[in-house]
Amino acid sequence: MTNWYKVFKGRWRCPKCGSQEIIINEHSFTGTGLSRLLDWQTYEYVAVTCARCGYTEFYSKQVLGGEKNAIQILDFLFGS
Ligand SMILES: [Zn+2]
Repeated sequence: MTNWYKVFKGRWRCPKCGSQEIIINEHSFTGTGLSRLLDWQTYEYVAVTCARCGYTEFYSKQVLGGEKNAIQILDFLFGS
């Protein structure tokens, strides 16, 4: 189980207000309509919410992959 708080804390920066205070939530959404009937595909996301202004970004767990890969992505995006 990946500790997403640890991955995002200190790397993610709110694009709206610049705060690094974060709240992490994990969400999964099942597809709607046909895709739901056919394969019950589930989409899993990590939601990062800015604790100062409430701005929230969703990242696909499928793309983030494991902790090491996710850190590389965040370092690339936020250049730490
Ligand atoms: Zn913010």
